[in-house]
Amino acid sequence: MKNIEKDKDIEYNKYVKKMKGNRKMSNILEDTQFIMKKYKIRANKALGQNFLINQQVVDTIVESSQITKQDLVIEIGPGLGTLTKELLEKAGKVICIELDKKMIKILTDRFSLYKNFELIHGDVLKIKLNKIIKEEKEKNGFQSSKIVANLPYYITTPIIMKLLEDRLDLESIIVMIQKEVADRLIAIPGEKETGAITYSVYYYATAEGIMEVPNDSFIPEPEVTSKVIKLTLRKDPPVEVKSRGVMFKIIKSAFMQRRKTLLNALTNTKVFMSKEEGLRILKELHLDENVRAEKLTLEDFAEITNKILVDE
Ligand code: SAM
Repeated sequence: MKNIEKDKDIEYNKYVKKMKGNRKMSNILEDTQFIMKKYKIRANKALGQNFLINQQVVDTIVESSQITKQDLVIEIGPGLGTLTKELLEKAGKVICIELDKKMIKILTDRFSLYKNFELIHGDVLKIKLNKIIKEEKEKNGFQSSKIVANLPYYITTPIIMKLLEDRLDLESIIVMIQKEVADRLIAIPGEKETGAITYSVYYYATAEGIMEVPNDSFIPEPEVTSKVIKLTLRKDPPVEVKSRGVMFKIIKSAFMQRRKTLLNALTNTKVFMSKEEGLRILKELHLDENVRAEKLTLEDFAEITNKILVDE
């Protein structure tokens, strides 16, 4: 619950007026229901629409983003604008990217009085974020840019990989995603709960879990528990490798057959030209010949890559 102040959120002010001053506090659940009813919105499952109705979660996301007026914030999938509103109060500028036309109408109605609000109607996977960030930094002199989002879960991994692999000029990425995926992204390579993606995230960023979010924090409730995570982008990669691309291909090959030993997985996928070559490389790196992919650190994969590229 928050004290009601006069603000620039047009829909919200209309609602307070409608309640004829009976409503002394703002309530995220009531606001959401009001907007959904007014615009006849039914959450679109295919677009991963689960609207946040837990103020504590909104506050935690915003606080852990440490947003200042010197920041450009890009929000992916603003939906009805619950997070957007708080971001607009804190950031120098908020650029929202939303695919659903119905949300575009709501967001435009709600936030047209905010001078620091911009809305892009489109698919985040197709938008050239690098260009947008570069232009905004040049034009408005923002010190840093941050991504903040309650992501649509059906494309969590492609979105996060795009944000990292495009090497965007970003300071941090604060996102709410499925807990299961979150735990894999923030794991330390070589420790528990890793997958190929753990190594990618670790290469580009340091990652931390911020909070677990129960299903009843959304309308409609998703089928899975959620988690907010924060990725802080590294200035320099943690390992030196002759080819980043080759290393990630090797990691993918190793995890495609993760139940097999690393030696078999990489021999079957022709990363090692022969078992003998594989055995020699593992020995040189002091790795057990029966080791499995998930036991390797990023450093180990970088060294395997460097050895293979020397051999070629
Ligand atoms: N931010 C809102 C909230 O927290 O209540 C809504 C979050 S909802 C989990 C995900 C949002 O992403 C929806 O508004 C959905 O329409 C939007 N979306 C889905 N696919 C998208 C895409 N490819 N590009 C941009 N937005 C997308």
